[in-house]
Amino acid sequence: MAEKLLSNYKKLMEKGRGLFILQSAVAVIHWDMETMMPPKAIKLRSQQLATLSRIEHKMSTNPEIGTLLEEIMRHPEYDKLDAVQKRNVYLTKKHYDEQTKLPEELVAEIAKQQAVTVDVWKKAKATKDFSMFKPELEKLVGLKKKAAEILMEVKETATPYDALIDIFEPKMTAETISRVFDELKEGLVSLLRKCENAPKQPDTSIFKRKVPVDVQRKISKALAKFIGYDVESKEAGGRIDETEHPFTTGYYDDVRITTHYYEDNFASSLFSVLHEGGHSIYEQNLNPEWIFQPVGTACSSGFHESQSRFVENIIGRSREFWVYFLPKLKELTGNILSDIDLDTFVHAVNQVKPSKIRVNADEVTYGLHIIVRFNLERDIFADKIMVTELPENWNQSYEDHLGVEIENDSEGVMQDTHWASGLYGYFPSYALGNIYSGQILAAMEKDLSNWRSQIAKGNFNCVKQWLIKNVHSYGNLYDPLDLIKKVTGEELRVKPYLNYLNEKYSKLYGF
Ligand code: ZN
Repeated sequence: MAEKLLSNYKKLMEKGRGLFILQSAVAVIHWDMETMMPPKAIKLRSQQLATLSRIEHKMSTNPEIGTLLEEIMRHPEYDKLDAVQKRNVYLTKKHYDEQTKLPEELVAEIAKQQAVTVDVWKKAKATKDFSMFKPELEKLVGLKKKAAEILMEVKETATPYDALIDIFEPKMTAETISRVFDELKEGLVSLLRKCENAPKQPDTSIFKRKVPVDVQRKISKALAKFIGYDVESKEAGGRIDETEHPFTTGYYDDVRITTHYYEDNFASSLFSVLHEGGHSIYEQNLNPEWIFQPVGTACSSGFHESQSRFVENIIGRSREFWVYFLPKLKELTGNILSDIDLDTFVHAVNQVKPSKIRVNADEVTYGLHIIVRFNLERDIFADKIMVTELPENWNQSYEDHLGVEIENDSEGVMQDTHWASGLYGYFPSYALGNIYSGQILAAMEKDLSNWRSQIAKGNFNCVKQWLIKNVHSYGNLYDPLDLIKKVTGEELRVKPYLNYLNEKYSKLYGF
């Protein structure tokens, strides 16, 4: 192969490597800010972050990257690069085009407006006053529309909203999402009605029992051990810290999660650790040969959610997991839960109950919260509805989808930070993650028909190894719709997820 082509490719990867290392350092600084930083450090921290972000921008828009990309792509022997090399070139070009085509003033204006909008959102949420939030949200949506129109050309999407979706879920379109979400909605609403009308209802009073925070920390460690997320040994690549909103950060050998501990709600930290643990084992098991390359990153936000929800819900809320873990939980909590039987506990962790707040939603109603948000975003960016009409549309949608009445905008349209933070196009990833997880489960069952009995024995490793081989190790070699096909042999389909839910909940609720 032409030497020039290979040496240019190497130079391109070298530039990318520096950027990945810098970004991983920024991630640690953000992590510190959320977990450890003393309050007085905030001013210094924002200066550090601003400087690093300027360096990052300079590195990622370096014209040398453009020249290298051009030389590589028009080289007569370009086709001799292998699939991984081509994917690296493609992903580098995509990132470079996005970074260079957006005018710097617009990027700065958006960053500034985001900070203002988040600040006003907090105040407006506290006082339940959408009219205070509205003008800032209108400005931010306007700026994001401008950016989306530019990105639309770079990403070659049909609509501005598709360009925003592409940031989180590459090559996914609102048209495809609308189609699968319509089917998902129908399936979820029908399942919800069945659960609501079922004779067997769960007793969730056990979750009110107080479990001391230091005991909950031990439970977290036991859960991490179960999924093989090492936070204790000398070789550990993970750790668990505490923040109000749990998150995962890092990749490869340094992946950290956070959780929160409420004495009167031990289930909250328990499932958040399983959820974030699912994210973390994905990041830790990307192909080790690809570190610091674009292919050595996760496929998409939706795929990330498919992995966290797989561990949290498909494994963590299964009867088999509790066959193994309930005795452990009883041991750790002394006499607090000693009288609870397995069936009561498993039904309780799978309670289905429509609610107003997304983050508290159960497995069945969660998707409906997302569908409401997706429909509104799509219509806002297609100029079909105005920001001022959001509360009315939100409240009506909640009544139609979940049958709940929203009393004020703080428990309605202002509940999430995403829109104030400018994260448009992000919400669909959550429900797409559920859909992917259903397909992944169906594929896994063909290879690992005894996975449930293995989990009941406390062996998660067989599931984990299957996920590593079939999902994690592919990193970012494929866009999500291609990866789901690679993993399952099928196109994106809602049925497997609905089948999984129906089978599980019909047993629990007795319908
Ligand atoms: Zn998540």
